Amino acid sequence: MPFADAATLLAPLAPWFDAVRRPMPWRAGDLDAPHPDPYAVLVSEIMLQQTQVATVIPYFLRWMGRFPDAASLAAGTEDEIHGLWAGLGYYRRARSLQGAARAIAEGGFPRTLEGLLDLPGLGPYTAAAVAAQAFQLPTPALDGNAFRVAARVLALEDDPRRHAGALRDWLAPALAAHGPSRLTQAVMELGATVCTPAPRCASCPLQGACAARVLGIQDRIPPAQPRTKVTEVEIHLAAIASGPGWLLRPPGAKGLLAGLWSWPSAGAVPAFQGAAEPAAAYGIEGREPAGWIQVYSHRRETVRPIVARVASEAAPPGMEWVRADRLSDLPMGRRDQRLRDAVDAPGAPLTAAGLNALREILAGS
Ligand code: SF4
Repeated sequence: MPFADAATLLAPLAPWFDAVRRPMPWRAGDLDAPHPDPYAVLVSEIMLQQTQVATVIPYFLRWMGRFPDAASLAAGTEDEIHGLWAGLGYYRRARSLQGAARAIAEGGFPRTLEGLLDLPGLGPYTAAAVAAQAFQLPTPALDGNAFRVAARVLALEDDPRRHAGALRDWLAPALAAHGPSRLTQAVMELGATVCTPAPRCASCPLQGACAARVLGIQDRIPPAQPRTKVTEVEIHLAAIASGPGWLLRPPGAKGLLAGLWSWPSAGAVPAFQGAAEPAAAYGIEGREPAGWIQVYSHRRETVRPIVARVASEAAPPGMEWVRADRLSDLPMGRRDQRLRDAVDAPGAPLTAAGLNALREILAGS
């Protein structure tokens, strides 16, 4: 089905955005010129991935105070970066941002969509959003908000992500006509404040042109996504001390834990059959502070923490002993930070299941 002309359909968005836009520390004053600081746009877009504007603003200001340009970020230490990012979540984004800064410090800021896509951590949405806002390129940036707005304006009743290519082709002339930076931000703003999942059509500048509104089907567009299956797991997470150090897993290069230290863990296993064995027989003293539920997008972990001290021994494979005075500076994910905060907390006596988990960890299995 051919889509109605986007430049005409979306024309009311441009003056609406000029009237309602809120000042943000990364927003340029002149929406018709290239942005004076493309690095600031890049930082804001990476921070805004999965995080609300109000949360991002103080982090952005602190970050730009310490790392005002790509060269300073390229030379930043892991500890500084972690300290400034702690609390924003998804720490991988900070490492990607530093990777992008290093590429920029070495080769200059890419000024094409293809060049931006080559930077670490930039997917199609972020690269297009930076290209449009920093360089005024008519590259449509489609995130969840933009897909929702486009799907409703065009009354697309199936998953709009299936039409990503066609929607980009449809939007590009509207960006060229009304200003790539202005229209990109206008669509984002409309999706964030008016065309929200429960839309406020009476306040919408597109209400006269929106096909879903005309048909009265806006509430069912886009269709609800099937719920993702959440895996339930139970783990023992162990802070094990020996002599002056703690036993930890160093950061992996890739994956969810890239750049983050973690405590060793073992899946919850049944306690030994028969009589409980005394921990002291293994040179182990330990306690079990209060546990908690750690929720991730696809996983719910029941965390059973253990704090233990063992007689000195070689670190199991994939782990190392880290001096206690370094512990507070290590970058860690939220779950592991929580145990770090509890290493001095009181706890119940070590259970047979906890002892079993410690032995499993120390045996490297
Ligand atoms: S009229 Fe309603 S459904 Fe259509 S774009 Fe505006 S807020 Fe969204």
